Amino acid sequence: MVDKLKRTKIKQILSQGKSGEKLCAKGWVRTKRESKNVAFVALNDGSTIKNLQLVLDVPNVDESLLRKITTGASISAIGKLAESQGSGQSVELLVESIEVLGEANPDEYPLQPKRHSLEFLREIAHLRPRTNTFGALFRIQHEMAYAIHTFFHNKGFYHIHTPILTASDAEGAGETFKVTTLDLNDVPKTPEGEIDYKQDFFEKETNLTVSGQLEGELAALAVSEIYTFGPTFRAENSNTTRHLAEFWMMEPEMAFYDLEDNMDLAEEMLRYVVKHALEHCEDDLEFLNKRLLDEEKQKPQNQRSELSLLERLQFVAENEFERVSYTEAIEILKRSKPNQKKKFQFLIEEWGADLQSEHERFLVEKHFKKPVILYNYPKDIKAFYMRQNDDDKTVAAMDVLFPGIGEIVGGSQREERQGKLEQRMDEMNIPREELNWYLDTRRFGTVPHSGFGLGFERMIQFVSGMGNIRDVIPFPRTPGNCEF
Ligand code: ATP
Ligand code: MN
Repeated sequence: MVDKLKRTKIKQILSQGKSGEKLCAKGWVRTKRESKNVAFVALNDGSTIKNLQLVLDVPNVDESLLRKITTGASISAIGKLAESQGSGQSVELLVESIEVLGEANPDEYPLQPKRHSLEFLREIAHLRPRTNTFGALFRIQHEMAYAIHTFFHNKGFYHIHTPILTASDAEGAGETFKVTTLDLNDVPKTPEGEIDYKQDFFEKETNLTVSGQLEGELAALAVSEIYTFGPTFRAENSNTTRHLAEFWMMEPEMAFYDLEDNMDLAEEMLRYVVKHALEHCEDDLEFLNKRLLDEEKQKPQNQRSELSLLERLQFVAENEFERVSYTEAIEILKRSKPNQKKKFQFLIEEWGADLQSEHERFLVEKHFKKPVILYNYPKDIKAFYMRQNDDDKTVAAMDVLFPGIGEIVGGSQREERQGKLEQRMDEMNIPREELNWYLDTRRFGTVPHSGFGLGFERMIQFVSGMGNIRDVIPFPRTPGNCEF
């Protein structure tokens, strides 16, 4: 009978493997060091950032086989575990038989056992999952998604799927991707010369969703507490380090919650998720922490951050966020040094100004030195569905601002009063007929309710310390870039 051993994952080998145990490991070669008698191969299978060291008895390995064991090649190895002689690992595998599953020609394989720039890796995004950094990011983003589901499950929230194809533009910003099956070379027109959407697949104009909120509200107004977690699409042409054209958003919606309940929930969730990362992604965070420290060393002293990545995460997990009204924030910003000295690109002159990322980051990083929840924004810079406050100027909106990121969560108490909602829609030229289904929830059994949206990739950016959002989603979509 052929000796067929089941594969053991490297994570399990390194944490539970016993000396003398015979087992089979499979994975991709990271490095090979070779001398006359012995070769050391660092093998990684993605189950952990750590590599398994394979020890090969060179005189007993076929020479042509040995030459095929190069960085990037995939191999299957059987052998006995032994306590490691070298430092850095507990056990190593003394190889008895080894097979190359797939070669990676060293003259062509673009990943070398050295640090590549993130810009270079973006160009080979199809291979970058095989680097330590992106392996760490894969594991962290999995843990984050798991933590979010666990958090809401434990609170009795229901996870629902909201549609991706929709006829509504929840934000009213008009930054949607159109969805059509019409022949773009021969678009049918109405007698008036407009596009005849009656002949399109859905018999009306449709687009990819920018948010699941409006549909989420319908569900919350029936079963109290729900959340959606799905892809959203925004055709905003903002080439920033925080914007993607396709990103994932986690959106809870809760009946009987006012703005304060909403802020409490957002803060509790964010701190829970960060704590989960600290407890469950230790090795990966340690690696990213070191990566960031190395990167910081390249910067001039005054541009280095005061806290390391791990210290930042600990800080967020352990400290309450600062809650500040928009009006207070404007006062702070007006008096601030960068405003007085005209260092802001957009100077804050009066109440009503929309806050830019430079202002948000000043408040978080320089003034309060902790995450900040801003609330009660001017109604003119916010969406139609936010609840109007009695002052007639502001709405019950709240944004959570994080260091290094700026806005990570945007939410509000929703306008539950039918009359007020319709009046605001009229003022903002949003046709009531189009949102009749939404208005029905206010017609029938309306209740105060709230919700928010958390940008999943911005969360990963914060937890991993990665500077560019294109590096925290496996396959980024940005203006001019839709590869793979
Ligand atoms: P910003 O002002 O940064 O563009 P926004 O006000 O448009 O954000 P919301 O519409 O409130 O954001 O969306 C909720 C959350 O979704 C944001 O707090 C952010 O975390 C995330 N988000 C929004 N737009 C993007 C994007 N283009 N790419 C990645 N995440 C995004
Ligand atoms: Mn935006």
